[in-house]
Amino acid sequence: MILGNDPILLTPGPLTTSPTTREAMLRDWGSWDGAFNQITQSLCTDLVDIVHGQKDYVCVPLQGSGTFAVEAALGTLVPRDGCVLVPNNGAYCARIVRILQRLAIACVELPLREDEPVTATALEQALAREPRITHVAQVHLETSAGLLNPLDDIAALCKRHRKGLIVDAMSSFGALPIDLRTGGIDALVSASGKCLEGVPGMGFVIVKRSVLDACEGRSPSLALDLYDQHAYLKKTAQWRFTPPTHVAAALRSALDRFVAEGGQRARGARYARNCATLIDGMHALGFRTFLRAEAQAPVIVTFHAPDDPKWNFADFYAAVREAGYVLYPGKLTQADTFRVGCIGAIDVNEMHNAVAAIGRTVERLGIAVQPRTTRVKASA
Ligand SMILES: *Cc1c(COP(=O)(O)O)cnc(C)c1O
Repeated sequence: MILGNDPILLTPGPLTTSPTTREAMLRDWGSWDGAFNQITQSLCTDLVDIVHGQKDYVCVPLQGSGTFAVEAALGTLVPRDGCVLVPNNGAYCARIVRILQRLAIACVELPLREDEPVTATALEQALAREPRITHVAQVHLETSAGLLNPLDDIAALCKRHRKGLIVDAMSSFGALPIDLRTGGIDALVSASGKCLEGVPGMGFVIVKRSVLDACEGRSPSLALDLYDQHAYLKKTAQWRFTPPTHVAAALRSALDRFVAEGGQRARGARYARNCATLIDGMHALGFRTFLRAEAQAPVIVTFHAPDDPKWNFADFYAAVREAGYVLYPGKLTQADTFRVGCIGAIDVNEMHNAVAAIGRTVERLGIAVQPRTTRVKASA
């Protein structure tokens, strides 16, 4: 892939996009323009298709980063007197709790370790303990560690117990299989700049039509009201407020590439190859992954920081950046870690080269990469 002299972003959004996707932003679009409205329409159709929601679901696009869409989904879909169960195994789950607190919606947290996927059994017990629970808000892929939660089990459980399920599928949408036809999911939230390989700037919520139809006037926010956004789009074919035109055009181009690549399966397979190449290479250098292989999603990998007093993430980051690769700091409360993403318009060549750059860097900085004795520090 031709990427020029820009560094490769091994960060899970913003990420490295293809030149074609960036070129799609080289013109201006009017928000009233029929050609732009056509883009919006086709984006919504294609996004719903990716998760097989054609029959019962609609896609509501929203300006802003992914968090705006998560907040919009919670504020629009959960009634004021609802109660939301949040299994919490990372920073994005914790963010959902904070959003619910701001919305003054009752919330029950199910605390988990950052390397521990939620189980249907634990969820079921939590539901039994608190009968007020009306909804579950689940992060599919906890990007803070790269942890995969078992969405199919959770959706089946919510269906059985008749609980609404709102899924933050931000960093899994497009890469991992999600099938809305099996039922149990009220809404899926994702954004332009993650596994779809667009640029950041718009989120979207794929929501069951019957659920959204019941939500008129519920959102406490004007700008984040998905019901109004959808109603306006349906009536006028336009976004309610100024659309992120270039972001949408870039996403159109990115989705064309997604289809040409072979859709979700092919994208997921490329990321899995990237991830395996990264982990094998890093293991060979002596680094250890934070997660067990079964819990590791092929999107971002958390590595333990080397147990060497010379280790300093900022210096390491700067040196690897100098070599052309942008890494990500850790986002865990339990352990000293750093992260490397394997998504974006990159393949195994970039992963090999990144590992080689990391190897040269630790050598040059004189850092001894040795396994730590303790896996996870005791949590507070
Ligand atoms: C990226 C991401 C978000 C959204 O974060 P923004 O910074 O608002 O884009 C939410 N949830 C998960 C799991 C994510 O990976």
